[in-house]
Amino acid sequence: MGGEAEIKERLQPKSETTEKKQHNVKGKKLWQKVKYQLVEYHALPAYLRDNEYILGHYRSEWPIKQILLSIFTIHNETLNVWTHLIGFFLFLALTIYTATKVPSVVDLHSLQHRLPDVLRKTDLHKLHSDLMSRLPSSTPSTWHVMELLYNCLPERFSHGNSTDMCVLHSVREDLANMIAPLIFRPITRWPFYAFLGGAMFCLLASSTCHLLSCHSERVSYIMLRLDYAGIAALIATSFYPPVYYSFMCDPFFCNLYLGFITVLGIATVLVSLLPVFQSPEFRVVRASLFFGMGFSGAAPILHKLIIFWDQPEALHTTGYEVLMGLLYGLGALVYATRIPERWMPGKFDIAGHSHQLFHVLVVAGAFTHYRAGLVYLKWRDIEGC
Ligand SMILES: [Zn+2]
Repeated sequence: MGGEAEIKERLQPKSETTEKKQHNVKGKKLWQKVKYQLVEYHALPAYLRDNEYILGHYRSEWPIKQILLSIFTIHNETLNVWTHLIGFFLFLALTIYTATKVPSVVDLHSLQHRLPDVLRKTDLHKLHSDLMSRLPSSTPSTWHVMELLYNCLPERFSHGNSTDMCVLHSVREDLANMIAPLIFRPITRWPFYAFLGGAMFCLLASSTCHLLSCHSERVSYIMLRLDYAGIAALIATSFYPPVYYSFMCDPFFCNLYLGFITVLGIATVLVSLLPVFQSPEFRVVRASLFFGMGFSGAAPILHKLIIFWDQPEALHTTGYEVLMGLLYGLGALVYATRIPERWMPGKFDIAGHSHQLFHVLVVAGAFTHYRAGLVYLKWRDIEGC
């Protein structure tokens, strides 16, 4: 067949073939333009109709290739995709930062503040031998440390110029980071990583959902389930750092709260994923599960405040947790009321509609929770049990 076509093509005058080809390409392009044009709300199939105040700029039942490319074009889901995609990369960066930097960076101020107290409890002979064993003599970094220690000699700083002050600062920081692990045993990080993982899963699932849902009814159905599962995972894993680090010295309450939220989280994910629970009569069950999960966070936080009312870290973290609650609450309010597009339908199709505001508030709430997590880590690294 290929050979025959080639002979036919050869028999035809060259200019005519080129013209035909150009015509075909033009036609194809025009057809694609018409086919993949953004449509208005009233032209959507029923399963894609969700917000009647967003009037236009919808993608409707496009092939996957066009949908994937649409991540770089303007339509009413562009910012919904990007707000959570950027959020995902933010949490990926925070996870890498936490894994590489947080355990080795000790706050000098709090170290100095607590050192005398800790030293009283520490076996100084053991500390001395530990410290000496941590100063090997052959690696290049040792030279650095030895040089810094040498620079520590008082006569080098007697003039007190700014370069010396810089070196002094660096020496102090290096020494602090060297001595700190000998005195303070960093506590386990898994509850914090569980939260970071939950946040990344939620943000990526949501972003994917907004990008792909317009493909077909089947894909839309699957994506929406995935989005629900992501939200359940974020809520459940958000409990892990506050509960674990607040009650790590009290295994009964630690296991009680962690067990409760894990069972509730798994139940919510399953309810979100199983088709049998999708029928309207389960709508109330689904909604109650999400609300129940969110509100059950108040119990361990109040409990923490009662036990540690005199600890500044308990108040500090509660401040962050209240701020997170406000951000999520405001997000839910905006989401439910469809403000501002309900006031000016069609004016916020591309930018500024409620779902985009909701996305930004979710990322801000999760980031607040991350900050609270850092306070917990520092608190427990220094205090232990
Ligand atoms: Zn969303």
